[in-house]
Amino acid sequence: MTSNKAENTLKHQYILNDPLHQLFDSIKAISVQGYDEERRVIYWNEGSEILYGYTQEEASGQKLEDLIIPDPVKEFVITSHSDWLNKDIEIPASDITLRHKDGSDVSVFSSHVMFTNQFNTKQMYCIDVDLTEVKQAQAQVIFKEHMLESIFEAIPDLFFLMDYNGTIVDYHASNLKNLLVSPEHFVGKNMADVIPLNVAKEFKVNIEKLKQKTEMVSFEYDLTLPHGVTHFEARMSHLSKYNQVVVIIRDITEQHKSAELIRHQAYFDNLTSLPNRALALDRLSQMLIEAKRNSETSAVLFVDIDDFKKVNDSLGHEIGDTLLVQASNRLQQSLREQDTVGRLGGDEFIVLISDLGSHQNLLAIAENLLKNFRKPFSIDDKQLMLTISIGVALYPDDGESPSDLLRNADTAMYQAKNMGRNTYSFFTPEMNIMMQRRLQIEEQMRSALERHEFEVFYQPQFDVKNKTMIGAEALLRWHNPNLGHVSPEEFIPIAEHTGLIVPIGQFVIAQALNFLSKWQDTQQHTYTMSVNLSPRQFRDIGLIDFIKEALVKERITPESLELEITEGVLMTGQSYIYDALAQIKALGIKIAMDDFGTGYSSISYLRQYSFDVLKIDRSFISGITENKADCDLVKATIAMSHSLGLSVIAEGVETKQQLSLLDDLGCEFVQGFYLSKPLPKNQLLDFSTQFYS
Ligand code: C2E
Ligand code: MG
Ligand code: MG
Repeated sequence: MTSNKAENTLKHQYILNDPLHQLFDSIKAISVQGYDEERRVIYWNEGSEILYGYTQEEASGQKLEDLIIPDPVKEFVITSHSDWLNKDIEIPASDITLRHKDGSDVSVFSSHVMFTNQFNTKQMYCIDVDLTEVKQAQAQVIFKEHMLESIFEAIPDLFFLMDYNGTIVDYHASNLKNLLVSPEHFVGKNMADVIPLNVAKEFKVNIEKLKQKTEMVSFEYDLTLPHGVTHFEARMSHLSKYNQVVVIIRDITEQHKSAELIRHQAYFDNLTSLPNRALALDRLSQMLIEAKRNSETSAVLFVDIDDFKKVNDSLGHEIGDTLLVQASNRLQQSLREQDTVGRLGGDEFIVLISDLGSHQNLLAIAENLLKNFRKPFSIDDKQLMLTISIGVALYPDDGESPSDLLRNADTAMYQAKNMGRNTYSFFTPEMNIMMQRRLQIEEQMRSALERHEFEVFYQPQFDVKNKTMIGAEALLRWHNPNLGHVSPEEFIPIAEHTGLIVPIGQFVIAQALNFLSKWQDTQQHTYTMSVNLSPRQFRDIGLIDFIKEALVKERITPESLELEITEGVLMTGQSYIYDALAQIKALGIKIAMDDFGTGYSSISYLRQYSFDVLKIDRSFISGITENKADCDLVKATIAMSHSLGLSVIAEGVETKQQLSLLDDLGCEFVQGFYLSKPLPKNQLLDFSTQFYS
């Protein structure tokens, strides 16, 4: 055995000193092993030591199958080797997994040679290249592939790979629902052949964009699929190395719908579905840009429902809302498709008429709008009438900017209201002057009380039969250094609008009661002081207490105070008005219905609120001597009042004839210029002495 071994070793050493082995010795990256016919190691280079873990000493003389062959293939290796030796069947080079000294797997690409040495024995040389990293890289690639597959599977998006001219190279789709055509019809085809041209064009444009940029591009498009119009977002990124484009397509129909909904809510009125203020103003701006470009005339109509607040207050908000919806429908019905109706808020609407043509057309449009409101509205079996007031401003005549036109249309609408409502009015520059005056009045009025610019005048009231003075009506006067004398007809509505009527009204009550106290003390006689109350004053929760305190302060019995209210106060039907009137009544203060005949002249109000006095409006009195109808009306009013237990006072008596006719008709009290104009307090004191002795 020993000699045999020595002999073998010798043979090998001989061979191992040749230049080829010297080359193997210097290569560390490749493992080279030599085996004799019994598969014992006769050569083991450093590359083998590194790859398999055995040193040259450890390996020398060991059998191949005991060193690096895993158990399951041992037999196979032995047989293959013997087949090569004996039958000359070569062992082909192959990928194979061998075993490291520590038992771990070693992946190699193994090539083998067999040759016969000069001693006529065969030697097999194995040259193994480490494949661990390659295998790892391969495994990584496979893993990535699997991962991508699961990603494609899990993501509902569509993935396409295209080349620069839009030819679809590859795709991934977890479901085919959003594919316009099936994959076999588009792979290898150009986009332009499988999707609508306009969309294909979008793709082309964006591919071009992408080529110029490093970052991703995205765009949106619609496709009509069997399940409906579907909205997509395409994101593209560039595989510049391969001259290809990755496209990820996402179905954003749902997001689109919610965005649409949000947009709708932001731009459309919830109740009427009309464009809201923001959108309407935007359309106005657009219309003006167009009109300017094409030198067209356009119109802005400001539409306001007449007395809508009263309807809302008396019938409730639900009916009010239903009416607003019906009213908005009627506005729309009157217009062309291209015109816009928008809701500015409350009962205010805007109508935009583009490319108006002749002004004559506008008259027809305005008439038509009014006409559409002539039919009653029916709600819950109720028939209701609504009217509208329209203000018109024209581009470019009445303004060139949206804000100017809107303001001027609003001013014209205000004018239409003043003209008695249910009509339209075209803006004129004079209206602007009127509007400016309104603003001036408002501004000046804010500090008029502090500057002591108000003064209360008193218009005497008389008993017709006895020709005695029974009291006076307190009427407010305002002198302002800038505006001069401003009539209450002008400033009272503005004061109501701004709420300034509350402190101003308190001033009148305080002044009037203070004067009454002085008047009664001086003449040792009892008078009645009439004071006008505006609807707005009832909303002031301090009103009743204020009156009570003023009465106490001036030591006036409540019966000497008479509060004049108009039907407008009652129209709103609100409970706080009823409560306030009941409290006033309970205090013993008298209540007069002012301006009777100008409003609805509702007898039911007279009953419901137990008035003490009815004041016939001067517009009826002025006609009684000439106009039989007026005379009959006044006669009937007096009779009705008396039957309800109310006393009657006629306002605006200007002639002797009127006075005597009223006497004949049974009217017990009068006031008017024929007897006396409203007077400052000192003049009234003087004036009243002649009636008192
Ligand atoms: P009103 O309460 O109906 O007052 C009667 C108006 O008729 C007064 O106008 C008075 O000067 C006027 N007048 C009286 N006799 C005649 C006449 O024979 N011929 C003509 N043409 N007019 C006559 P005035 O003072 O301009 O007040 C207008 C309205 O302003 C009042 O109508 C009243 O509604 C309101 N007003 C006046 N002062 C006050 C106030 O202190 N508070 C409130 N809330 N309203 C007031
Ligand atoms: Mg009055
Ligand atoms: Mg009156």
